[in-house]
Amino acid sequence: MEQPVQAMDTAHFESILKTRKAEIESRLQKIDSDLGRLKSADSGERAVESENDEVLEEFGQVGEGELRGIDAALDRIHAGTFGTCVKCGEPIAIERLKAVPHTPFCQACAAAH
Ligand SMILES: [Zn+2]
Repeated sequence: MEQPVQAMDTAHFESILKTRKAEIESRLQKIDSDLGRLKSADSGERAVESENDEVLEEFGQVGEGELRGIDAALDRIHAGTFGTCVKCGEPIAIERLKAVPHTPFCQACAAAH
């Protein structure tokens, strides 16, 4: 079935975003439990522990940032503005959405950001 060029398959992106969100959430939960385990681990390996802590915490922050971006993208899907740049209002290229489904910016605005 032919679809209009401008049609945005939001259902497709919604399922991608929800899958990605579930992945990040389960990974963040694992990080939380890893951090808890490391903090209660034997003090003989403290240097290694804190190094691991930093890596895990950094990873957790990246994950939480992406999670917020995904939530915002899901909000835009429900609001009917998904695929539109939040800065300039121009459509975001489909290739860009495929690469980064939660991006709120078009290529030009992301580059200027
Ligand atoms: Zn833009």
